[in-house]
Amino acid sequence: MYHFIPDMLRRLWQGYRRWRLARLLRARRIPAQLWCQVVGELPLLQAYARGDRHRLRVLASRFLQDKLITGVADFEPSTYMRVVIAAQACVPILNLGLDYYQGWREIILYPDSFVVQAHWQDEFGVVHEGEEGRSGEAWEQGPILLAWDAIAPDRVAARPAYMNLVIHEFAHKLDLLNGVADGYPPLHRAMNSHDWSEVFANLFNQLSNELNAGHDVQLDPYACTNPAEFFAVLSEYFFMAPGLLASRYPTLYWQLAHFYQQTPAG
Ligand SMILES: [Zn+2]
Repeated sequence: MYHFIPDMLRRLWQGYRRWRLARLLRARRIPAQLWCQVVGELPLLQAYARGDRHRLRVLASRFLQDKLITGVADFEPSTYMRVVIAAQACVPILNLGLDYYQGWREIILYPDSFVVQAHWQDEFGVVHEGEEGRSGEAWEQGPILLAWDAIAPDRVAARPAYMNLVIHEFAHKLDLLNGVADGYPPLHRAMNSHDWSEVFANLFNQLSNELNAGHDVQLDPYACTNPAEFFAVLSEYFFMAPGLLASRYPTLYWQLAHFYQQTPAG
């Protein structure tokens, strides 16, 4: 009896907090009309069933509460641009959760490609320095940089079907979760790290050798730049051309399916 009233009050208080949070999240949800427009423009989102698209909208709304999307100079990202980024950024973490994008907050949007000071090593081990044009970049413990003209839905036809810069850069962030970008993101407990490393290393070496021999690998050669780019580019294929990846490289497809907890090839 003595515990009854405090217990009841606690339950009432918890219920009120849950109701208030749900109400707040509903109020901040991406407006239905804008969400439908973005889904209508991006085949990637249309591939998901209705229930999954609803979860994606909820997650993308939370993403926009959590992350800051800023433009450079006088370029101000519109709400439409923010939703285009959020919707695609949330595809890889649909079954993983927003915590997978922890530890950083900002996405910097450029109107078009930008120039960065880059360092790179040639085949003889000599390090070079100079300016390089980029459409996207993911900084370790820092922001993601994106060029709008490389992700705008109305220019999707101008890009190869597998290409998705948003997924690419956010895959780098997942890779960085456990330290450096090396193509080895934090695997789930049920996954076998030896299998992951073997599948990725074997295919990376095989494709690199074929490329060096002048063969057509029928995959974006940029993937073979290093293991980090391999993971990011293969993640693009996984979501944008899953059927192709599953039929051509099934073992790698299934490693990614276990990691992303999704089977986009059906
Ligand atoms: Zn990259």
